Amino acid sequence: MSAITEYVKNITETVTTIFEGMAITFSHLVRRPMTIQYPDRIPKPVQETLPLRYRGILEVDMDICTGCLACERDCPISCITIGIEMNKETKQRTFSHFDIDICKCMYCGLCAEACPTGSIRHSQEFEGACYSPSGLVRHFVTEPVPLYKPKKGGETEPKMKAKVDIGQKYLDEFATPEGAGGAGAEEG
Ligand code: SF4
Ligand code: SF4
Repeated sequence: MSAITEYVKNITETVTTIFEGMAITFSHLVRRPMTIQYPDRIPKPVQETLPLRYRGILEVDMDICTGCLACERDCPISCITIGIEMNKETKQRTFSHFDIDICKCMYCGLCAEACPTGSIRHSQEFEGACYSPSGLVRHFVTEPVPLYKPKKGGETEPKMKAKVDIGQKYLDEFATPEGAGGAGAEEG
């Protein structure tokens, strides 16, 4: 191939590829956008579309936590630290702290599986970003909280019964995936 032919071929290829590239670019001007503006311009919050067994950031209902420490023991990477103290006057045992380091958490669910009351559970929350790693340690006790003692024959006080039922429902759904529903499961 002569030098002139090679030169013309290169120019032709350059012009052609520029037009091909620009054609793709300009075609996007008339297409429906594939992107969405998260989080304020979506039809409904993402959290509402997640299945019930989604393993989001852990939450703890201290009102139904017995202080059995099963979750702390079963966590393979020591994300959970629980402190229990005895009040010498009342002889009542209370939580001094119940912290979960969600920075370390790998969302394996072993703690939630081990919990007898369903008080520690995965929420549908996944937006945990903050400015400092210390902000990722969730503190569930801000003042001494008494340990929960399950009543023989079940709870009768409506507020506590509702909490116990929520915990039990979570345990049932977490342990039996075939029984779990949820918006995401229904849609998917
Ligand atoms: S989900 Fe797993 S890693 Fe996270 S706190 Fe529970 S047991 Fe530990
Ligand atoms: S959250 Fe559950 S497993 Fe952990 S201490 Fe409380 S009752 Fe026990």
